[in-house]
Amino acid sequence: MLNGGKLKFTRVAVFNPKITAERDLIVYNLFMSTTLHLFRLQEIDSRIDMAQRRLDEIQKILNNNAELKRVEAYFENCKASHGISEKVLHKAEGAVKQQRLKIEQTESMLYSGNVKNPKEVQDLQNKSNALKRYLSKLEDIQLEAMLAHDEENETLQSAQTALNKLKAQLIQQNSRLAGEESGLNKEKEGLLKDRAVALPALEDERLKLYNKLRKSKRGIAVALVNDGGCSACGATVTLATQQKARSATGITYCPSCQRILYGK
Ligand SMILES: [Zn+2]
Repeated sequence: MLNGGKLKFTRVAVFNPKITAERDLIVYNLFMSTTLHLFRLQEIDSRIDMAQRRLDEIQKILNNNAELKRVEAYFENCKASHGISEKVLHKAEGAVKQQRLKIEQTESMLYSGNVKNPKEVQDLQNKSNALKRYLSKLEDIQLEAMLAHDEENETLQSAQTALNKLKAQLIQQNSRLAGEESGLNKEKEGLLKDRAVALPALEDERLKLYNKLRKSKRGIAVALVNDGGCSACGATVTLATQQKARSATGITYCPSCQRILYGK
């Protein structure tokens, strides 16, 4: 139910609250000018529009998972790189192990006492030395692989932390938005009821004009005269026009934006 503003109500003392409300409405309608009815409707519609705009915004935020997708994709990339570095490290470790085994075998032949021919002994010694030289190279490769793997590990950890943080933030944000959304839906429901109550007071022709202006004037068909100016476009309104906007008869338009003017 709308508040009466400055209008004088003649409240009839009836004990049935439903009848009282109906009588109030009739008396209220009789006293109110068409422009005031239109202005009240405009106030309701503007609030509905505002609630709807925020509801649309909330939907957009809830549907937009671009940031989550980006952080998830980065995490998957890090995981893949980490997997590769792990394989490289295992391969390097395997090669070192293999090389050590070869050296062990060569040296055990060398020191077993089974090989007596000095040429053969020399060959084994040379082979062992060559194997050791190559082992050193393989160990360098293994160390490099270990460092690279450590780095990938750190990157993966921080990507995981960032992803967890974002997910937690989104859960918080979405629950906050869901709360706001339900509040706005309730507010909108109440406003639609107010609108349904306000509509019968308006003649079809006036309503048509209002709807037409709403469409062409970005949702604002009725503007308040505020400090001698139009509240919608800011243009100065002459005293005569202000007076007309305050009168109960006829409709006065803003000379600049052509919206209906309402003077309190
Ligand atoms: Zn204007």
